[in-house]
Amino acid sequence: MLLLKKLKERNSVFSQWRQHIHAYPETAFEEFKTAEYIEKLLTSFGVKVYRGMAKTAVVGIIRGKSNKSGLAVGLRADMDALNIPEEIGLSYISKHKGKMHACGHDGHIAMLLAATQYLAETRDFDGTVYAVFQPAEEGGGGGNAMVQEGFFKKFPCKAIFGMHNWPQLPVGAMMICEGPMLAAAATFTLKVTGKGGHAALPHHTIDVVTVASAIVTSLQSIVSRNVDPADSSVISVCEFHAGTGSLNVLPETATLGGTARSFKPETHKMLEMNLRRIATSVSEAHGATALVEWREINPPVVNALAETKLCREVATQIVGEENVHVFTPTMGGEDFAYFLQECPGAFIMLGQGKGDNTSGLHSSYYNFNDDIIPLGAAYWVKLAETSLPLKEG
Ligand SMILES: [Zn+2]
Ligand SMILES: [Zn+2]
Repeated sequence: MLLLKKLKERNSVFSQWRQHIHAYPETAFEEFKTAEYIEKLLTSFGVKVYRGMAKTAVVGIIRGKSNKSGLAVGLRADMDALNIPEEIGLSYISKHKGKMHACGHDGHIAMLLAATQYLAETRDFDGTVYAVFQPAEEGGGGGNAMVQEGFFKKFPCKAIFGMHNWPQLPVGAMMICEGPMLAAAATFTLKVTGKGGHAALPHHTIDVVTVASAIVTSLQSIVSRNVDPADSSVISVCEFHAGTGSLNVLPETATLGGTARSFKPETHKMLEMNLRRIATSVSEAHGATALVEWREINPPVVNALAETKLCREVATQIVGEENVHVFTPTMGGEDFAYFLQECPGAFIMLGQGKGDNTSGLHSSYYNFNDDIIPLGAAYWVKLAETSLPLKEG
C-alpha cells in the first residue's frame, strides 16, 4: 500500500517526535510542554490549532479539499504519562524523575501527528478532520473535561475514533469489537470504625481488623452471587490499612480501598448498592460503623455498530483481513468512553508486541514500539478519508 510505504519512509522523523515526548513525560492536566510541542508541529504542517479546553488539550483543524457535506470526524489521542519510575535503559529515558510514558501515549501522539501531517499535505477528503489531543486519560478525567467544556458544541463530529497500542498483540495486528469493549470503572474506600484497645483484652474492643476482613470476604459474594453469571463484572479490594505499628494494640479504624468494574449501567449501579449494603450491614453486625465513598472513574467504552464496521474495513485495508481480530472485552477502563457517550464512534487496539518489547502497559519496563507509528498513522489517514469521501462534480 502506497500510503503505508510513504509513512514508513518518514518513520525516523516520527520516531524522533515520539522519543522527544517520551523523554519529557507530563501527567494529568500538566501536559503544558507536550501541548506546546504538538502545537508547534501542527502549525508547521499548516494546520490551524485550537487551545483553551481542559487546561492542556490541543485540537488540530484540518480542512479537506472541499466541504460539500459540511461534516467532520474526530481522531483522538491521549497525551498524559504516569507516576511510575522508568527502569528501562533508553537513550531517551524520562528526564522527569518518577514519571514515564508507561502506557504509550507518547506513541499515540506521534501516530496522530504523523497522520495530521499527511492529511494536511494531501487533504483528500470532503469536510473537516479534528486531530484531538486529550489530557489526563489516566484517571484524571480529561475526556470528561473536554466533553463538559463543550467539545462537541465547538467541534460537531459525525463520528469520533480512538486507538490504543496493545503489547500482547503482535505488530501488524489490530483488534476491535462492537458494543461494550472496556468496562465502566469506579473506585471505593471503606472506613470501618470500632473501638480500639489492648490486644489481650479483645472483649473490651470492637475489633475492626476482624470486621474489615469479614467485609472483604463478603464483598466477593457480590460478583459470584448477585451478578448474572452471563454478565461480567469485578470487585477488587486493593488496599487494607489498619494498625498503629504496635503488635499489642487493636486499632480503632481500618480502611479498605479498591475498584469495581462492569459493562452494563444497571450492573454498575447494583455493584455500588450492594457494596454499600454489605459494608454497613457487616459493620453493624459487629457493632462497628462503616463510611463508604464511591467515585465514578469512567463509563464503559461502547463501540457503535456502523463505526465499528467501518473501522474493521479500514483496518483490513491496512493490515489484511487475517490480522484484524475480534477483541474480547476486558475490565480495563478508558475515558474515551465520555466522547462515545455523546457521539457515535469506535475504539481499536493496535498490536505492538515484539520480542522483548512486550512488557505490559503501566510497567516500569514498558516502551512504545516505534515500528507501529506508520501503521497507526495509515489507519488514521484511511479512516478520515473513508469517513469523509470526496464528492464527485
Ligand atoms: Zn494507561
Ligand atoms: Zn493508555
